[in-house]
Amino acid sequence: MWLALATTLVCLITWVAKDAITALWVLSAILLTYLASHLYWLHQLLQWFKKPELNAMPVGSGIWEDVFAAIYYEKRRHSRSQAQISSALDRFRHAASALPDGVVLLNGSDQIEWCNPTAEQQLGLSMRQDAGQPISYLVRPIDFIQYLHRQDYAEPIKLKSWRTTGATLEIQLVPFGANQKLLISRDVSQLEKLETMRRDFIANVSHELRTPLTVVGGFIETLTDMDGAVPDSTRAYFAMMQEQTSRMRRLIEDLLTLSQLENSPEAPQETEIDLQALLNMLLHEGVSLSKDKHEITLEPIEPGLFIKGAHEELHSAMGNLVSNAVRYTPQGGKINLKLFQRGKEVVFSVHDTGIGIEQQHIDRLTERFYRVDRSRSRETGGTGLGLSIVKHILTRHQGHIEIESEAGKGSTFSIVLPQSRLVHKAVQAAPVSA
Ligand code: ADP
Repeated sequence: MWLALATTLVCLITWVAKDAITALWVLSAILLTYLASHLYWLHQLLQWFKKPELNAMPVGSGIWEDVFAAIYYEKRRHSRSQAQISSALDRFRHAASALPDGVVLLNGSDQIEWCNPTAEQQLGLSMRQDAGQPISYLVRPIDFIQYLHRQDYAEPIKLKSWRTTGATLEIQLVPFGANQKLLISRDVSQLEKLETMRRDFIANVSHELRTPLTVVGGFIETLTDMDGAVPDSTRAYFAMMQEQTSRMRRLIEDLLTLSQLENSPEAPQETEIDLQALLNMLLHEGVSLSKDKHEITLEPIEPGLFIKGAHEELHSAMGNLVSNAVRYTPQGGKINLKLFQRGKEVVFSVHDTGIGIEQQHIDRLTERFYRVDRSRSRETGGTGLGLSIVKHILTRHQGHIEIESEAGKGSTFSIVLPQSRLVHKAVQAAPVSA
């Protein structure tokens, strides 16, 4: 503004003192000097941007002084917030390095962005060499590769360590941000060892108890059957002893079944099971257990249906639901068995009009020894392990159990298996006799 006024004044004075041409020359000279100064400061700015250090910032003059001051202020603010961010990042890295669990940051293409020393040690990574490498090149077990591609990371997986013999790692992926993932690895060898010890202990104790119990039970039975061996006054005690030994035998058998299921996570030899035959057998077993006290029905199924699985295990799981329905439904009640397809699943359901279960118990029914009414379970010969066995069997068949119930009205227990286990076979037409 002042420069424009001064220039106009100088030009006017020159015009009056000399002539218009000289005034024009003076104006051109002033404008050229002005332009040259702008070009000079622009050049200085460009030079500074090549190495933008705060203490090398040009001072400038005129409007450039303000421009440089504004840039200086912004740059200082930016440097401060950058320093804050990098100190926060440093603190995070320090904390993550001190974690007893391994942590690996993966980008959208599952490449390693960063990992802490525990992850380096547990997974055999090296931050210096492996940053930017896909994690699947370095963590090779097939279970991990499948887990990585599954896109369902709700549950962690367990892997036998490929670096330390006898060690077990639990690996969990946690998606975050835009397609990024956090891999958390934990050494669970100690826990696994304890769990194996617990399983072995139960299996061994059950096994050791089986023989003496069989002997004691056998003698009680023999004595009861022997004429005159048991005086009438003590016969009732013998009946009680017999009942208790057979209850203990059932308990031991169930404990052994559970530990067998737990000790071999893979399902045994699978066969194609004729569903019609299996359902008929379950109906028959239910009817003989009920001793005509209930009305038991089976809904017809499409002919030629087979299911892939371990015959004995699936029979035992389904039979357990039928026997529970009989045991927890008072005389005169109805029990309905049904097999149907639901979306991508095949469901076997047992509906009863029995005593039902209050909502707060439902989630805990598959826990070992969880019983809503202990005395009723005992009276009907229950061990409290049936549904726990069912749950294990179903997990081995990639299935699960569903329970709907209302106290006093009845329950529906369903076994849900993936539809991929279902096989349709063409039914051969019966030969027509002439
Ligand atoms: P139990 O040997 O005691 O029957 P389960 O594991 O088979 O053990 O069942 C656990 C508990 O679930 C039972 O004690 C009972 O309280 C409840 N339950 C199971 N099935 C039914 C049913 N159909 N109706 C009512 N309660 C049931």
